[in-house]
Amino acid sequence: MPILPGRSGEAKGAAAPPEPEAPWLIALASGAAEREAQVLVEGLRLQGVAATWHDLGHGVICLPAAQRVQAEAAVAESGLAARLIRVETPYRLARRDALPQGSRVALGGVEFGGQRFVVVGGPCAVESRQQIQTCARLCGEVGIPVLRGGAFKPRTSPYAFQGMGLRGLEILAEAGRDYGLPVVSEVVDPAHIERMYPLVDAYQVGARNMHNFELLKALGDVDRPVVLKRGPAATLDEWLLAAEYVLIGGNSQVILCERGIRTFNANTRYTLDLATAVQAKGLTHLPVILDPTHATGRPELVAPLALAGLAAGLDGLIFEFHPQPELAKSDGPQALRPEALPGLMAQLAAVAAATGRRLGAEA
Ligand code: PEP
Ligand code: MN
Repeated sequence: MPILPGRSGEAKGAAAPPEPEAPWLIALASGAAEREAQVLVEGLRLQGVAATWHDLGHGVICLPAAQRVQAEAAVAESGLAARLIRVETPYRLARRDALPQGSRVALGGVEFGGQRFVVVGGPCAVESRQQIQTCARLCGEVGIPVLRGGAFKPRTSPYAFQGMGLRGLEILAEAGRDYGLPVVSEVVDPAHIERMYPLVDAYQVGARNMHNFELLKALGDVDRPVVLKRGPAATLDEWLLAAEYVLIGGNSQVILCERGIRTFNANTRYTLDLATAVQAKGLTHLPVILDPTHATGRPELVAPLALAGLAAGLDGLIFEFHPQPELAKSDGPQALRPEALPGLMAQLAAVAAATGRRLGAEA
């Protein structure tokens, strides 16, 4: 077999390149003032340590202090309470040990990441004022505290319904106001972020856009929560690094959402990867929720998998329902019927009680 020039020499006896040194996080105790943290960072920079600080919403984190000795000395001199963490994972700011108590992310007044298991429900797409008003009313009746609805739909086929666009967001926001529900809707283009800002309480990044790094960077500049769906072929590290793009931009309000991955199994639309969702919860400080609707494409599987996610300690659920699924313009076959909602909520409430948790909005 011919050997390409250069390859053989490399293989013979060449020393492996040194592993790049893992960076360090300095996790300041929550309550540290931003000014004190800035003084610490400046001190490190004067010593040639390329430190930066990131406010995760609770406490301040500095990185990367590759030179541990200087970092320790600077922390000791500052008198700040801090922990030094060696970062051996590709993601840094999302690590659970950066914020062991876990992040709380609020959509309107509804908090994710606490004791409450939060349910988000609504149609796949906003289709009309009447449809979304009915959905909001149903949410209110059964105690679903957050309303979802897509206005910019990333569809597999360009011939399929693409969503109502900005007009859809306006009627979604109106329904949210009318029924006192925060709303979440998908953003597909960085250019839409500003126009969506007054109309949504959280931006959803869809599975197909998890690798859209320009979108993630743009969301890092916004002070509004991001529900980050896992790409159908993304590994755990890839998903968490996508979250890292938002965090490093300065937006600490990220909620991870497992929505099924592509496998050989053709019986469900995707395969719900509950194990990875639970791992994500343990490895990061971010709230993790589940989307059993897109994971399965089957309404009868939504409740059992939602219950499993709750029992497994996840932070919430996002699912689709429609006043008349047979008339839905997108994802009708996987939508729950209104009659199914009270039973779902009752089952969730029972499992929440059995696991020492509660459903709902309050902290
Ligand atoms: C949706 O929530 O309507 C959606 C399109 O989800 P996903 O990005 O997970 O496919
Ligand atoms: Mn959908």
